[in-house]
Amino acid sequence: MSSPAPAPLDLSGDVVDLARALCDVPSVSGDERALADLVEAALRRCAHLEVLRDGDAVVARTGLGRAERVVVAGHLDTVPIAGNVPSRLEGRGADAVLVGRGSVDMKSGVAVQLAVAAAVAEPVRDVTWVFYDHEEVDSSLNGLGRLAREHPAWLAGDFAVLCEPTSAGVEGGCNGTLRAEVVVRGRAAHSARSWLGLNAIHAAGEVMARLSAYRPRRAEVDGLVYREGLNAVGIRGGVAGNVIPDECVTTVNFRFAPDRSVAQAEAHVREVFAGLEVRVTDAAPGARPGLDHPAAAAFLAVIGGEARAKEGWTDVARFSALGVPAVNYGPGDPLQAHTDGERCPASDVYACQRVLTAWLSGEPAA
Ligand SMILES: [Zn+2]
Repeated sequence: MSSPAPAPLDLSGDVVDLARALCDVPSVSGDERALADLVEAALRRCAHLEVLRDGDAVVARTGLGRAERVVVAGHLDTVPIAGNVPSRLEGRGADAVLVGRGSVDMKSGVAVQLAVAAAVAEPVRDVTWVFYDHEEVDSSLNGLGRLAREHPAWLAGDFAVLCEPTSAGVEGGCNGTLRAEVVVRGRAAHSARSWLGLNAIHAAGEVMARLSAYRPRRAEVDGLVYREGLNAVGIRGGVAGNVIPDECVTTVNFRFAPDRSVAQAEAHVREVFAGLEVRVTDAAPGARPGLDHPAAAAFLAVIGGEARAKEGWTDVARFSALGVPAVNYGPGDPLQAHTDGERCPASDVYACQRVLTAWLSGEPAA
């Protein structure tokens, strides 16, 4: 069954209505084309923006020759729909709550981006608005990563804001992540003659003992406190019900504060499991909060609140790798992301719209 073409997006109306319209155009990762087309068409109607497109990523920017340029980014895709599209609005006005897939992660943030991009035609700092695909899937597919590789100039800036959900508070930087396999070897034998073998699963008790005894660090980085964690996230061993297993592999995940590099994080994990075989399978660096930059300071001043440390890994690290300090700031409670009952308070959406508008218009703090 083919559905009718979705209506053009209205960027000048109510921002919660816009968020709702975005939620009602399904855009599960890999299927962002229809939404990217609508976003591109809406931005092309704004005479003050230059619009660029790569795959299902859309970039729109001002070119006013301002002294600094900021980047405001968000992803267009969502995790799979779970009976929660189309969206619905509960309550009215500022007390309303938008319910549905993408309401939190992160179409309300995208709605704020689009509304402010259209409304603030002469920002005091040049702005690059980035809308990208494939955030919710394997990081090799990530649209922001693709733009960084193929069009790094499109992402150039002095400071970036990623409109991922933070309940409209600023979350600076992010932890890094490293996964490793800790391998314990034994000797296979028939379980009827177990004394001839060496049981690798029993020997892996040493791995569990070290994990249980591990005390994770809290690290202060540029004024924000990051909590680390080292955890087993998987274990496998054994080949059959009558064989003494000769190998047991525990997968561990180390979430590390941004004052450690990936190499330092790896060295730490190897130290914890000294004497055991450790294979690192993947790693991504964290990002320092970068709140000392003037554009970041101006942003915090408009919000008038304190920044918090970001605990998960987010795409701010991709900006960090490009030399652009970045923070997360967007509507909705991040704990609601990816839940079937995903819901975003309208008040968060309006608050983010006010803050971004004031920051880019050079208005004093609200
Ligand atoms: Zn997200």
